[in-house]
Amino acid sequence: MYQNRRPKGDSPVTIIGAGIAGAWQALLFAQAGHDVTLHERGDALMTDSTSHWAGGMLAPFCESELCEPVISRLGLRALDLWRRELPETPFNGSLVVAHARDRSDFERFARMTSGHRRLDAAALAALEPSLEGRFREALFYPAEGHVEPRRVLPMLHEKIVAAGGTIRFNSDVAAEQLDGVVIDCRGLSARDRQPELRGVKGEMILVRTSEVKLARPVRLIHPRSPLYVIPREDNLFMLGATAIEAEDTGVSVRSALELLGAAYSVHPAFAEARIIEFGSGLRPAFPDNLPRIAIEDEKIAVNGLYRHGFLVAPALAELTLAYVERGQIDNEVMRCA
Ligand SMILES: Cc1cc2nc3c(=O)[nH]c(=O)nc-3n(C[C@H](O)[C@H](O)[C@H](O)COP(=O)(O)OP(=O)(O)OC[C@H]3O[C@@H](n4cnc5c(N)ncnc54)[C@H](O)[C@@H]3O)c2cc1C
Repeated sequence: MYQNRRPKGDSPVTIIGAGIAGAWQALLFAQAGHDVTLHERGDALMTDSTSHWAGGMLAPFCESELCEPVISRLGLRALDLWRRELPETPFNGSLVVAHARDRSDFERFARMTSGHRRLDAAALAALEPSLEGRFREALFYPAEGHVEPRRVLPMLHEKIVAAGGTIRFNSDVAAEQLDGVVIDCRGLSARDRQPELRGVKGEMILVRTSEVKLARPVRLIHPRSPLYVIPREDNLFMLGATAIEAEDTGVSVRSALELLGAAYSVHPAFAEARIIEFGSGLRPAFPDNLPRIAIEDEKIAVNGLYRHGFLVAPALAELTLAYVERGQIDNEVMRCA
C-alpha cells in the first residue's frame, strides 16, 4: 500500500528547518540529485534552534547506558556518515571518569555499555595529560567523536549549496502551503501537527581557560549531577548539560552551581576559568524519547531527536532518502499514516 502512495522519486523536495535534522536531510537529498530547497525561519546564525546549544557529542556507546538499542544502531551508522562528509571531524574517542566515592556507579556504567577499554591512572595521564593524578581509572571509548555545533551547522549548510541545494533563511513556511515532497524538521515548533512533542530543557555553560587541555569529551559520573566537559577551539569548554522536564528558557542558579562545581571537581583549574556564556535549549522529544519519521503521502516529519540529534540525524536522513527513492521502510523508526 505504501508503494502506491509513496512520493515520486523525482519530485522537488522542500525541507523545513535548518537545524541538525533538516541540514542532514537537505544534504543527502541534494547529493542524490534532488531539487532541494531548505527553509529556515531564523537567520544563518541559527540561534533559535536547539541545535545551536548542543554539546555535539557523537557517542553511541556511552548513550547506550540509558537508551534503547535503536539509538546505538542509528548512531553507529551516523558516525560513518559524519566521517564521510566532514573528514576533519575529530574522532578522538571519549572518556568516562568518576571520583572514588562514585565507584559503584562507574562500574555500573562500564557494565551497561560496550566499546570501551579501561585505563589506569598512568594510561589516562598519557592520553589526557591535564587529568594526571585526578582519577584512578577511566573508561575510554575510542570510536566516539564530537563536533562543534556552531561550526558544523554552517559547514553543512555550505555543503548543501555546493551539492546544488538552495537555502532560504528568514523564511517561515508551513507544510500545507507546499507541493511535492515536504520534510518537516521544525523541532519543537512542529507541535501544531505533532502535539505529543514536548521540550526537555538542557542547560549549558561555556567557559574559557588555558590551564586545561583536553582532546576529547570527558563525562563525570555523579549520582546527582552528571557532567560532561567538551573541548572547543580557542581554549573554550562547554559544560553540560542538565535534562529538566520544563519548557522555560534560561539557566537556574542550582544548575549553574552543579555544572560549575562538577567541572571544578574534574580539574581545579576550572575555578579560574572565565564564564563566557550561559544558555539553554529545549530538546524535542516524543513520549518514548525516540526519534520518529512520520509519513503521510508526500508529507514526511522527522522529529523527536531528543538528546541525540547530532548522533542520529545523518542516519535518519539516509532512511528518509531510501524511503523516497525506493519505498524502503524502517519499522523501528517510521510511522506510516
Ligand atoms: C544543552 C544541550 C546539549 C545537547 N547535547 C547533545 C549532544 O552532545 N549530542 C547530540 O547528539 N545531541 C545533543 N543535544 C540534542 C540536540 O541538540 C537536539 O536533538 C537537536 O538539536 C534537535 O534538532 P532539530 O533539527 O530537530 O531541531 P532544531 O535544532 O530546533 O531545528 C529546528 C529548526 O526549525 C526552524 N523552524 C521552526 N519552524 C519553522 C518554520 N515554520 N519555517 C522554517 N523554519 C522553521 C527553527 O528555527 C529551527 O532552526 C543537546 C541538546 C541540548 C539542549
